[in-house]
Amino acid sequence: MGGKAAIVTGGGTGLGLAISRELGRRGYPVVLASRKREHLEAGASSLAGEGVAVHTVPCDVRDRGQVERVLAEAEQQFGGVAILVNNAAGNFVVKAEALSPRGWEAVRGIVLDGTWNFSQVVAQRWIAQGQGGSILNIIATYAWTGAAGVVHSVSAKAAVLAMTRSLAVEWGRFGIRVNALAPGIMVTEEAAKNLGYSDPQVQGWLAQQVPLGRLATPEEVARLAVDLVSDRHPYVTGDCWTVDGGLWLVGFPNLRRFLDGESWENDQPRRG
Ligand code: NAP
Repeated sequence: MGGKAAIVTGGGTGLGLAISRELGRRGYPVVLASRKREHLEAGASSLAGEGVAVHTVPCDVRDRGQVERVLAEAEQQFGGVAILVNNAAGNFVVKAEALSPRGWEAVRGIVLDGTWNFSQVVAQRWIAQGQGGSILNIIATYAWTGAAGVVHSVSAKAAVLAMTRSLAVEWGRFGIRVNALAPGIMVTEEAAKNLGYSDPQVQGWLAQQVPLGRLATPEEVARLAVDLVSDRHPYVTGDCWTVDGGLWLVGFPNLRRFLDGESWENDQPRRG
């Protein structure tokens, strides 16, 4: 698949940028797609500085026309697309009973509709051209455990996991692999801000909840993501790889507690 590009949604920040960097290191030209120019430009300049071939396209994943433009520019710049990583997401901590219709719609739109828009647009092209390809959807372990304080994200990620498995079955005949990756809690700037764990002390308490005793780094998650989406494992499809230090086995922390101002200080470590 080398030579053709990888599209990474939300590729200018956090995990998306780490995945883009790892793809670049392994020889893939990368197309970063997200809404904010400042995110795209900062991400692209750091990748270009490391010798990665990179192109940016401003895009809201909820807008079908903008998604089609990303594919067209990727083809124009790099001659084709081999990989799609649906990484873009929106999230915030909220009590389920207080979640507004607009908040629900925003998170569902970015996570579920955005993943669907990109998957269908790119796969239609692959099928028309008679070529295979590989799609990776970034989800979260609470897609199957559930979690308090993020019902919009939990529901959308669970739907994306179901989509992953369905498309793997339906598009296998076209040589298209579709997988998911579920990271544990990572300290990425935007997510820590939106989910309420920017404070290093809170990060310390969260780390105590993880059997391996620490939070994840975007770099270690990105290595597994690129292993899965690249042609290193060509017989894996419809699967979800988990890289969370064992957190889901002891239960996702109750994020709703941030809203009640409860302290994590007296929580017992859950490391066994
Ligand atoms: P992040 O830096 O906030 O990444 C989210 C990205 O999505 C941003 O680059 C953002 O860019 C983009 N985005 C948001 N809305 C968009 C839209 N409508 N259209 C296009 N792009 C949009 O957070 P992250 O922690 O790296 O998260 C990356 C992925 O990991 C997400 O799928 C998240 O659910 C998952 N994850 C994260 C954690 C964690 O602890 N951090 C844990 C489990 C799973 P713009 O603002 O420029 O649009």
